[in-house]
Amino acid sequence: MSNCLFCKIIAGDIPCNKVYENDHVLAFHDIHPKAPTHVLIIPKLHVATLADCDDPALLGTLMDSVRHVADEVLGLTDGYRVIINVREGGGQEVFHLHAHILGGKKLPF
Ligand code: 5GP
Ligand code: ZN
Repeated sequence: MSNCLFCKIIAGDIPCNKVYENDHVLAFHDIHPKAPTHVLIIPKLHVATLADCDDPALLGTLMDSVRHVADEVLGLTDGYRVIINVREGGGQEVFHLHAHILGGKKLPF
């Protein structure tokens, strides 16, 4: 989508600090980290929000990529938190589906 921030990052029109990429997903550091490690992972296909996504394969690929990036790319072997904010009421600000990976310290509830 032409007016979507994360689609512009995928297209390379806006720079990001990339940590991982494959044919289906892109992972990059959040610009305002809320933990020592704070990475966003997004599908390359534009989906506005989890609530709109009826594609189990896309969601499976996204979650499998979260596990791969957290464990094998970022090395968060002590553990990490995965957050998906859904719609305005859930705190979603960028309407391109994304999972937050937070780690690098013991996270409070
Ligand atoms: P949401 O609140 O939608 O779940 O999360 C959006 C996230 O995107 C926020 O944590 C915010 O810091 C991050 N963000 C917003 N704009 C940019 C940007 O231009 N680059 C990067 N790397 N992160 C961004
Ligand atoms: Zn998008």
